[in-house]
Amino acid sequence: MLRIRDLHKSFGPTRVLRGVDLAVRQGEVTCVIGPSGSGKSTLLRCINHLEKIDAGRVEVDGVLVGYRESAGRLHELGDRAIARQRAEIGMVFQHFNLFGHLTVLENLTEAPVGVLGLSKKEARSRAREKLRRVGLGDREDAYPRQLSGGQQQRIAIARALAMEPKLLLFDEPTSALDPELVGEVLAAMRDLAEAGQTMVVVTHEIGFAREVADTVVFLDHGEVVESGRPNQVLDDPQQRRTQEFLQRVL
Ligand code: ADP
Ligand code: MG
Repeated sequence: MLRIRDLHKSFGPTRVLRGVDLAVRQGEVTCVIGPSGSGKSTLLRCINHLEKIDAGRVEVDGVLVGYRESAGRLHELGDRAIARQRAEIGMVFQHFNLFGHLTVLENLTEAPVGVLGLSKKEARSRAREKLRRVGLGDREDAYPRQLSGGQQQRIAIARALAMEPKLLLFDEPTSALDPELVGEVLAAMRDLAEAGQTMVVVTHEIGFAREVADTVVFLDHGEVVESGRPNQVLDDPQQRRTQEFLQRVL
């Protein structure tokens, strides 16, 4: 579902991603761990073309993201084609990014109507199904400010699901939450994983990674230092940099 080859990205002189390779099969969960500043958010932003890449390729479901290839050269896609690709790639941020002036239901129907062209009726029925999946079927008329942080993040997840994305990206979805609210969000994510949603999750929740991930990737200084099954990477890391990072966070 996702294939990244030799991805490079710099901001000015700062080389943030230095030849990242990554592959995620359909239905699998990959957790990306690594120190602050190692390039995790930039990696996610390159996957949905929120950042332009300098070199390498990103393919989602076999289709190049952000570019079309002709005669061996890459040409950047236009805004509309990029928007169509982004509609297939969901993203959940640390700070929810819900629309504060819209109700929960309106937050969930806006893009399915505006981008996918669903009728309002179809979009509402889809939205209600997604709200039930995150355990908030009874809060469709609330405004975001009336909900706890954990509830808001579950709404943000439901909003991403309402687009029925092929791939769902999470950027530290529990980092902004009070500790007692983390569990409900991780539980919703675990349910999605069990239902077969393909996900890439940047997280500091090592317990979640151990339990839910098919693959754990340790990123440091823009490089994949180590990747493999959770028990390999988390319990028996082979690289010194991975060992040192895990000692700090565990
Ligand atoms: P992480 O998510 O692992 O903490 P980021 O991908 O956010 O790391 O950032 C990696 C590096 O790239 C940092 O040094 C950060 O300052 C830099 N960076 C990220 N975005 C930008 C940007 N838009 N302009 C300049 N530097 C950036
Ligand atoms: Mg980040």
